[in-house]
Amino acid sequence: MAYPIARQLVFPMDPYVVTGPRFGEERSYGGVSWGIHLGEDADAPAGTPVRAAGRGRVVYSALHPGSGDKGNWGNIVIIAHKHPETGKNFFSLYAHLGRRIKERGDPVELGEAIGTIGEGYTPDNGWWEAHLHFAIYTGPWQGTILPGYWKKGQGRTKKSYWRDPSAFITTFPA
Ligand SMILES: [Zn+2]
Repeated sequence: MAYPIARQLVFPMDPYVVTGPRFGEERSYGGVSWGIHLGEDADAPAGTPVRAAGRGRVVYSALHPGSGDKGNWGNIVIIAHKHPETGKNFFSLYAHLGRRIKERGDPVELGEAIGTIGEGYTPDNGWWEAHLHFAIYTGPWQGTILPGYWKKGQGRTKKSYWRDPSAFITTFPA
């Protein structure tokens, strides 16, 4: 499948302030390690518009509800992009959305709205403060949801497939 070429990338919110956990940080919840954070979290009020980091095509758009004892993704969108220098696909991932504007197969332009930040502490969005989980994945696309954390021995993904989102965007070819 051919994806349109991304000429540049932008941050998915304005302002975009990473509040943590940052990329590569280990996180524990309730005394249990979840592993290494594969994206970065940016707190923002519910309803804040979330935009596509680059031109591409939506490859995943679905609700992953949480429960009282399991926070989850809420609404999640994943966009495939083509790197202008390597020609390889990479993916941007947006989680904890309240509303998804785009569905799988939709083309998106750089900076186009794809959804909004969801309310915190809701059954759909999970038991979190309102925030965006934003990640950049460069591994092969399997047609399925990608994890938010890496844990040794779990085998769900390779740490080497993931990039620090802020560093990736700020060093991306113009
Ligand atoms: Zn996160």
